[in-house]
Amino acid sequence: MTLLNETHDPSLRSWVPSANQPGTDFPIQNLPFAAFRPADSAQHLRIGVAIGTQILDLTALARLALFTGEAGSALKAASSDSLNRLMALGPQAWSALRLALSRALRQGAPEQAQLSAALIPQDQAELAVPARIGDYTDFYTSVHHATNIGRLFRPDSPLMPNYKWLPIGYHGRASSIGVSGQSFPRPKGQTLPPGATEPVFGPCKRMDYELELGVFIGQGNALGEPIAIDDAEEHVFGLCILNDWSARDIQAWEYQPLGPFLSKNFASTISPWVVTLEALAPYRVPFERPQDDPKPLPYLQGMANSALGAFDVQLEVRLLTQRMQAAKEQGAIISRTSYRHAYWTVAQMVAHHTVNGCNLQPGDLLGTGTLSGPTLDQAGALIELTAGGKNPISLPGGETRSFLEDGDSVEITGWCEKPGAARIGFGLCAGTLLAARH
Ligand code: CA
Repeated sequence: MTLLNETHDPSLRSWVPSANQPGTDFPIQNLPFAAFRPADSAQHLRIGVAIGTQILDLTALARLALFTGEAGSALKAASSDSLNRLMALGPQAWSALRLALSRALRQGAPEQAQLSAALIPQDQAELAVPARIGDYTDFYTSVHHATNIGRLFRPDSPLMPNYKWLPIGYHGRASSIGVSGQSFPRPKGQTLPPGATEPVFGPCKRMDYELELGVFIGQGNALGEPIAIDDAEEHVFGLCILNDWSARDIQAWEYQPLGPFLSKNFASTISPWVVTLEALAPYRVPFERPQDDPKPLPYLQGMANSALGAFDVQLEVRLLTQRMQAAKEQGAIISRTSYRHAYWTVAQMVAHHTVNGCNLQPGDLLGTGTLSGPTLDQAGALIELTAGGKNPISLPGGETRSFLEDGDSVEITGWCEKPGAARIGFGLCAGTLLAARH
């Protein structure tokens, strides 16, 4: 487990002025990674670190040969078109690079003049999926979401008997994961209309989003060698925001007995910035369960996991209808919650995923599952907010929604904030549903 160190000191200031603005997602205490290229250019992607409104280009930085030792090796691995090589190095290397970057970006750092030439404004860059994602697994770690959804799909047994014993998951599809700004056509598929005995084919009528976090795997494990829960976080590079778009009517017809398939794999959107576990250290909270719930089996229990295995990441979902976008409105906030309410932690997901010997690889992505909190206004999907479409939500301007309509954009933001620590944010995860293709 990463402890607090000098990089978390809330009094640190950067020589990049925008990093010191109150409310910025990217102060010097954050230093998240993304893949980028100058906008409208045909250049290769490269890895950068966010600082205020700027990106520090790590390929340009590596050419300056300012960092030595482990930080130098880590920087060399980050001079690439994806984060995979850096991810594979492990936490000691990531930490060394973070410390060197923090020191070089601080007010008064002698490197300022040289580093200034390696900055590019974020609004002049195109951001991309930050790693080659070999495999994507989506979990189901919010007991509130599982109960709400279960009630709609199976009123008599909302929570399956295995839920409190293991982190439920399914293997998703990596090829359709896109970065914030992604738009995609409304999917088509088979659905069973209410009361019908035979399915029909056509555009999905119940399109939904799912508010999730993504977990990027750092160093992998060899096939056949499970990762123990106490070592699990050493295999996690960082977190991003994830929107697991879901076609509910397709899902309801196809999901039994093997789980979601075409209802989920047409598009998933992630935020471009990966916030490292080290940056999140000030926002760790104890992993808590109701007292009467079963204690996890030993392979899912660890001292560090119990003490500080959860993360208090604030999450907010904003819906922008086509009308709101045309009127340049801010959109309607339709949900607010925190990752701290999850029933299973990051470490438990990793330990469970590998307990049978399954090998994870650098760049693999795990989804937390929809992160609904305990109350209805904290629900992370429309199917919960509208009780399966029965109670449409009201939006400013007189519009309502049961499910998403063509042209709707969903914007998810995440941030961490508390007294005594610097506020850090995840940036934006935005995506737009287009009309179905003919
Ligand atoms: Ca999901």
